Amino acid sequence: MYCDKCGNKLEPKFLEFEGMIPYCNSCNEYKFLKYSTAVSMVILNYERTKTLLIRQYGSKTYRLVAGYVDKGESLEHALLREMGEEIGRRPIFYKYQKSQYFKKSETLICNFYCILNSEDLFPNHEIDDYLWAPLDEAKELLKDTTLAKDFFKIYLESGE
Ligand SMILES: [Zn+2]
Repeated sequence: MYCDKCGNKLEPKFLEFEGMIPYCNSCNEYKFLKYSTAVSMVILNYERTKTLLIRQYGSKTYRLVAGYVDKGESLEHALLREMGEEIGRRPIFYKYQKSQYFKKSETLICNFYCILNSEDLFPNHEIDDYLWAPLDEAKELLKDTTLAKDFFKIYLESGE
């Protein structure tokens, strides 16, 4: 690993409470690994018979509601904030499911499932359209080999 400022080779150096962290001897700075954290949500209607799929940014692919966690923010706060911003709703219940690292965007994605008490949404401009899909239909609509599909299958297999 090399310094992003000066290009010097980084050496591991001990930092209290953190352990061995890459260090640049010319900038005298610890270089923490840069990555992002995001939340994604399997959103269900009250009866848990349908799930919410959205389409964004002109893409034809259905996906789950998701968003980045801000610096200093908890996963739970990001979940409520993102759902508020994107669909204008607050879940009556949510539960953590699983996390998975997405190498392409260097993001740790933390998935929850959430229950809404109404199917009425107030989507913002980031959402082109949305669909409350019956669970077996949603499984077909989500593209194979996507994290969205993995997370959705985890919900189905959880038996919750
Ligand atoms: Zn440096």
